[in-house]
Amino acid sequence: MATYGLRCPHCTQPASVRSSRAETETLRSIIFRCSNLLCGFTFGADLQVTHQITPSAIPNPLVRLRIGTGRSAPRPREVPEPANDEAASGPAVPLSPPGPLTAMG
Ligand SMILES: [Zn+2]
Repeated sequence: MATYGLRCPHCTQPASVRSSRAETETLRSIIFRCSNLLCGFTFGADLQVTHQITPSAIPNPLVRLRIGTGRSAPRPREVPEPANDEAASGPAVPLSPPGPLTAMG
């Protein structure tokens, strides 16, 4: 029985998943029920894929995610454009291999 670590917002006891439904490739709606029989609270929640940490080796071209490095998503203005978007706006520019590090100045 999955819980996703979610607790009942009323009595703080663990809540378990009763059912779920895929809304999109990155969003799932979930119905939870509190494990405390004296409480009995049931509620809905959404589980959403918000950003990528390591890119997929077999990416779905329909899935566009922000790039992040940890648990929280970066602010939108901090997110660079994905490199695979470059082909849509013009010819690809070949990247030169990285050279040795040199001191600037
Ligand atoms: Zn409860």
